Amino acid sequence: MTSHHARAVGPRVSKELRDRDDAGRPRTAVEDTEGGAPLRCCLRRSRPGERVVLVSYAPLRRWAAETGARPGAYDEQGPVFLHAGECRGPGTAATGYPFVRPGVLRVLRRYSADGHILGGHLLKIPETADRTIDGAVDETIRKETAKEIDEVVDAALTDAFAAPEVALVHVRAVEYGCFLYEVRRPRPGGAPYETGPDVGRGE
Ligand SMILES: [Zn+2]
Repeated sequence: MTSHHARAVGPRVSKELRDRDDAGRPRTAVEDTEGGAPLRCCLRRSRPGERVVLVSYAPLRRWAAETGARPGAYDEQGPVFLHAGECRGPGTAATGYPFVRPGVLRVLRRYSADGHILGGHLLKIPETADRTIDGAVDETIRKETAKEIDEVVDAALTDAFAAPEVALVHVRAVEYGCFLYEVRRPRPGGAPYETGPDVGRGE
């Protein structure tokens, strides 16, 4: 269980992006023969043979449209993978933070309620390269590693939201700068994370 909610691109926005993305262009679906594309609609990597579409997505603009923020020049867009057709989203069975594995670098960008950037924090997911038994990862060790990684990401997000002016955090890959997911400030006294019709959990 994590303290923060990694928000998928919800089903309504996914549909809009499939029709016409945030660069204003229709995109062509392809079969992902190898698999491994990070799907922002389901917050998991694609499996070989799944049909995916690479679209241009403006996460801050989309968030601002919901909240009334005016990010101005901070608005930016970049490529994300989605399932090519309607999908079920991450579902309620999804646990832990997506798109993590030992050794990868992430940056957590903090934004104010106005949509202005407040700063960023580089996060390296710890290496656990020696945690294998005869080359095969033991299931118990795999679960322990996943728990450790979740705790590291959890702590980084909690740290990011420790500043009261932080309303939103974008988690991105460092090398390519790809947007991975957004996290919104938890509501005080409410659910551990925001829920709604378009958060992409189980719809
Ligand atoms: Zn999907």
